[in-house]
Amino acid sequence: MADQQEQFKVAIVGGGLSGLAVAVHLETLGIDWFILESYKEIAPELGASIGLAPNGMQILDQLGVYDQVASQSGTASSVAAFDGDGNKLYDFELLPRMRANHGFDLRFTERRTVLQVLHEKIQAKDKIHVGQRVDKIGHVGDKVQLTTREGSSFTADIVIGADGIHSPVRGEMWRIAAEDGSKVFGDNPGADVATDYGCTFGISEPTNGIKEGVIRQVHKKDTAIGFITGRNDVVYWFHFFKLPQRHMGLDFPRFTEEDEAKFITPDLDRLMDTGTTFGDIYKRKRVSIITPLPNHGFPRWHYRRIMCVGDAVCKSQPIAGQGGCSALESSVALVDTLYAALKANDMKPLSNDQVEAVFTKTTQVRSKRSASVVGEGLLYMKLASWSNTILRLIDSYLVALVPKNTLVDLMFAGAAGGYHSNTLPEPVPKYVLGSGEAVVKA
Ligand SMILES: Cc1cc2nc3c(=O)[nH]c(=O)nc-3n(C[C@H](O)[C@H](O)[C@H](O)COP(=O)(O)OP(=O)(O)OC[C@H]3O[C@@H](n4cnc5c(N)ncnc54)[C@H](O)[C@@H]3O)c2cc1C
Repeated sequence: MADQQEQFKVAIVGGGLSGLAVAVHLETLGIDWFILESYKEIAPELGASIGLAPNGMQILDQLGVYDQVASQSGTASSVAAFDGDGNKLYDFELLPRMRANHGFDLRFTERRTVLQVLHEKIQAKDKIHVGQRVDKIGHVGDKVQLTTREGSSFTADIVIGADGIHSPVRGEMWRIAAEDGSKVFGDNPGADVATDYGCTFGISEPTNGIKEGVIRQVHKKDTAIGFITGRNDVVYWFHFFKLPQRHMGLDFPRFTEEDEAKFITPDLDRLMDTGTTFGDIYKRKRVSIITPLPNHGFPRWHYRRIMCVGDAVCKSQPIAGQGGCSALESSVALVDTLYAALKANDMKPLSNDQVEAVFTKTTQVRSKRSASVVGEGLLYMKLASWSNTILRLIDSYLVALVPKNTLVDLMFAGAAGGYHSNTLPEPVPKYVLGSGEAVVKA
């Protein structure tokens, strides 16, 4: 085994879903790590919710936090979609099929709840440095040095950029490659990132007695509105809109409160469920945020001793509810691959070539599925917002003819075939595969 001095250390930039999942996994396997997070706290109140599909829930189970997340989240049980005039397009029950197929539910909660649970799971809280915004990374021999805007400096063997869509780590990775004269990222990385949609999302107090587990959507030209009721009937809602014109590149458009009002006001009278309009829900909002929704999977995730995961390299449309679940898959895949390499190296620090092999293998394991999550999310967004006549006709007439179980499989395709860790305990289904009956604990 490696002694203390030659222990391999992982710098994780970002204490969001990806970063915390990496940290819990590394800690479980006894690999040294630290997190640098720019916010002053882990899990700040940002008003975001998250749907955890079975592929995400099974990883949370492996990370040892299933019960904590399940007890603080609601189960999605039924879906109905309406057109802009309040006519029902289709509806279906979700629960029996989901449970029988996957052994896990689709659960909803606030994103910060999941972050808090992961944070609580971490033993070595002193390895989490908040209020540290990484702005420079450099390779020094076989190590990587990170400096923060606050003036601190940290050293590690590798850097994991779990720092979201704006990803300064990704920017540093590109800068270093360009300075090395490398063309692996192309001439102008990021220029091809397209943003066609935006979204206002929010959380509202229980509205009109709508109970936990309900997913409702309104589909119309260039707009999709949706809500999900979570635990204690709290309403998590979304108003997706098409931008007046496509935006290219990483300097994403910024929106104001006036923009939010401009996009939302025409839809306040849309009927979302019997007796409930979008305006009824919006009036009871606790918090709302408007944001652009870039859609992109970066083809290359690593350079030298730096690798990015999560939204930093794979940003999908949230309507399909897979961005965070996919980030969890990539996070554990990276740690699995790293652990295998370290184990084969007697847990001693890895050479440049060994690191390169870990990162390349991780990309191979994850790139195909990540790309399909991005593609399927965009297709779902286009279908729900009737982006052309064919999709409008399919959504208005054909979807209702599809057998309901097949609909569940199609609309939640991302839940199937997810990566799960080979270095953590196997996920334990909570429902019997095939029947969907609850597993009775011995
Ligand atoms: C409206 C909406 C709804 C969504 N719904 C779902 C859903 O239902 N299901 C689902 O699976 N996914 C959903 N997602 C996607 C999901 O939220 C993201 O994919 C996931 O949160 C990404 O996690 P991450 O850790 O990669 O990035 P982030 O959550 O963005 O975390 C990045 C972290 O890095 C920190 N950071 C950034 N820069 C620096 C720096 N320089 N130094 C230090 N720290 C830094 C940030 O402060 C942040 O804490 C949704 C997204 C949106 C926008």
